[in-house]
Order: sequence, then C-alpha cells, then structure tokens
Amino acid sequence: MSVDEDDLVFTPERAPWLGSGPLARLLAVLDANGEEARVVGGAVRNTILGLPPGDVDLATTALPEVVVQRATAAGFHTVPTGIEHGTVTVVVNDQPFEVTTLRRDIETDGRHAVVRFGRDWAADAARRDFTMNALFLRRDRRVIDLVGGLADIRARRVRFIGDPATRIGEDLLRVLRFFRFHAAYGSGEPDPAGLSACIRARGGLEILSRERVRVEMLKLIVAARAAETAVVMADSGILDRVLAGVAELAAFARLGAVETALGLSPDPIRRLAALAVRHLDDATRLRERLRLSNDEHRRLRVMAASWWRIDPNAPEEDMRAMLYRIGAENFRERALIAFAHSGAEAGDRAWHKLVALPKRWTPPKFPLAAKDFLERGLEKGPMLGMALAQAEEAWIEAGFPGERSRLDAIVQTAIKSARAGPAISEK
Ligand code: ATP
Ligand code: MG
Repeated sequence: MSVDEDDLVFTPERAPWLGSGPLARLLAVLDANGEEARVVGGAVRNTILGLPPGDVDLATTALPEVVVQRATAAGFHTVPTGIEHGTVTVVVNDQPFEVTTLRRDIETDGRHAVVRFGRDWAADAARRDFTMNALFLRRDRRVIDLVGGLADIRARRVRFIGDPATRIGEDLLRVLRFFRFHAAYGSGEPDPAGLSACIRARGGLEILSRERVRVEMLKLIVAARAAETAVVMADSGILDRVLAGVAELAAFARLGAVETALGLSPDPIRRLAALAVRHLDDATRLRERLRLSNDEHRRLRVMAASWWRIDPNAPEEDMRAMLYRIGAENFRERALIAFAHSGAEAGDRAWHKLVALPKRWTPPKFPLAAKDFLERGLEKGPMLGMALAQAEEAWIEAGFPGERSRLDAIVQTAIKSARAGPAISEK
C-alpha cells in the first residue's frame, strides 16, 4: 500500500529546517558512504499538519556504533541514550537529535522489546505505533509513506499500524499514546478499532513503568483536545486506573477554557492539579504514580491546599492575607484551580480580577523587626521569636497597617502575650 505516488515533497519554505543548520550537517555525515538516514516521526507529521517540527528524530541504516564513529569524527557529541535499542543522541550545535538504527522488534512482553537491527525501511515503519508516526522524510525532501499515514494525517485519524490488539500486546504504553496523539492531532471520536483494543487492554496498564506513564500523561493533558479525550478515557475505565483516583472532568475542562480566556499557555502540573487533585493526599499519591519531582509535588500541594477559600465574594482583605502568606506565584496558581472548580464561566469578570490580584497589589514587607521588641525591653530568646510571629499575624489580620501608632500597639500586645506564654497567645 505504498503511497509514494502521492509524491509529497517538502519545499524549503515548508521545511526550512531540513536543508540548513545542524540537521543538514548531521545528514551529510549519516546519509552518505553507503548508509542512509531519514527524518521520521513527529517532525514529519507536524510539518504536514502545518505545525512546528519539534524535536527531530532520525532513522538510519547505519548501526549504532557506526553512528557514534561518524558523529564523533565530525566533532559532534554523542550520548548512548538507548543504545541497546539502537538509539544514539547526537548533539550538533547544542541541538540534540535522536538517531535510531532501522530495526524490528523480535521479542516483546508488553513493556520491553528485544530488537534486531536491519536495513529494511518497511520493517522499521511497521514496528512504529501509528500510521501518522511512521512517515519518512528523505534528504531529497521527498516524503515516503509505507503505511498509509498521509491519508490518516489528513483525516486527523490516529490509527494503529496493523492489528491494534496485537500492537498493544507488544507494548501497553501504546494505549496512552493512542489517546495522547488523538488529543494532540485527532479530530472527532477516536478510531473505534483502536479504542476498543485499548479498553480491552486496560487491565494490564499496571505493568508499565511509572516514568514512561509520566511522560505520556504529562504530554496528553496539555494537548489541544485534552478535555474531550479525558472524557473518553474516563468513560473507558482507563483514566481512573492511570490516576489511581477519580478524574475531575468538569474542573479539567474549565481550566482549559480559563487558560484560553486569560491567554495562558497550558502547564502540565497545573492541569494535573485540576484533573486529579482535591486534597493533599491526592498530591502525594500522584507523586508516586507519576514519579513527580519534589518541585512538581510542591506545586501540586500548593494548589491542593485551601483553594476553596479563594472566592471572589470573600472580603479582599482575606485574599490579600493569603497572597501575603503564600506569595504571588502560588496565589495565582491556587486561584486558577479555585476558578476551575468554581463552576463560573471562563469569562467571569470577578474571577479574572481575583486571579490578577498579585498584579494589582504587592504585599508590603513586614515592617517590624527584633529591635522594635528589644527596645521595649523584651529580652533575646524564644520569647522574642514568639512575639515577632504573633505580631506578624496581628499585622496581617489588621490589614497590613503602616502607621507607627498602630505598629506600636501591635508590638505592645505581642510582648504582653509572649510574656504570658503560648497558651494565651493562641487564639
Ligand atoms: P512528539 O512530537 O511528542 O515527540 P513523536 O511522534 O516524535 O511525537 P516520540 O515519543 O518522540 O513521538 O517517538 C518518536 C517516534 O518513535 C514515534 O513517532 C514513533 O514512530 C516511534 N515510537 C515511539 N514510541 C513508540 C512505541 N511505544 N511504540 C511504537 N513506536 C514508537
Ligand atoms: Mg519526538
């Protein structure tokens, strides 16, 4: 079913990245002297869709050690990213390219493959997941379609190469990739044959490594049609399994609409918070499930905590107090999550105003310091710390006053209650 006769050629205007710069230098080395190299996968697919190419991956007849030799001789840095599967990363002028030797998978167990290298382009296309991901672009700018991928890209249809159930059996991650590519490049409902094979395979998803699941899920949830796709995944009993919890589909959809209304680019952790976090426990569970970094986990916790207190109908002083306590960036993130959970329209003026509070109002610096207390006779030691903390609380509660007389009163009260001991200073 070769569609070579379609005769698609990427003109230099269409794919300026092919003929110049780092990629051209790399192809000159790999696509020469008895070996061939072609661009494959995302960059070809995206260019046909009129999107930026993204990372450029190459497929080549050259064995991995030959790739390393030639690249090194040309002065490029190489990293043996997945050398047993034939992948070497070659860095040219700071730009990384994944170069993978043509191969077929000869043994699979649902998550790993034993591969055999070869020189057969058709076999290499056939071992890839979806038709839209298996197009090759030759150095002469011609697109080679050995699997019917062009028609599927034009129809925005994510279709497995070969029998979906067999292909999923080889690698369960393809279930998530099916939804990921549908969310990013599909239209309408997912391909029925692919969808039903995914549903039948859902019980096996547990065997996947969490790192691989993480990569697919974080890409999936920022895709253009993530909200619709999440609904299908939830209806299919797949999403709850992956998250090991209940998906908040309405909040997830609303966050997408809110981001659009505010001109924000989608952020995977914020989207994850809307989709799957209501309480701090959810953040802890997701850290394990998706191998989140400490900083990602911290951000989820910020968005999980007390978001329900953020409310456009609450007194602005209360919102300022929270902003002072958690900082501008955290406040904004938490407010976006509260907005997503609120049920308000994405264009809601009061919510927009609240989300923008950190732009309108910068928290003042706490104007009191140890010396204010020492001058009034409090001695150094634990009482000083207590008095300072209590004074800061009182100052926040009072709406951040700046006048000396009010600050003095706060200092006096704090000293008194510090002297009286912790039992009294607690409200
Ligand atoms: P992106 O723009 O997200 O990087 P991509 O198509 O380049 O999209 P990658 O995950 O980078 O996707 O994979 C590169 C290519 O390798 C794919 O286009 C596909 O041909 C192949 N591939 C990757 N993972 C799998 C898999 N699990 N099973 C089969 N083929 C795969
Ligand atoms: Mg890629």
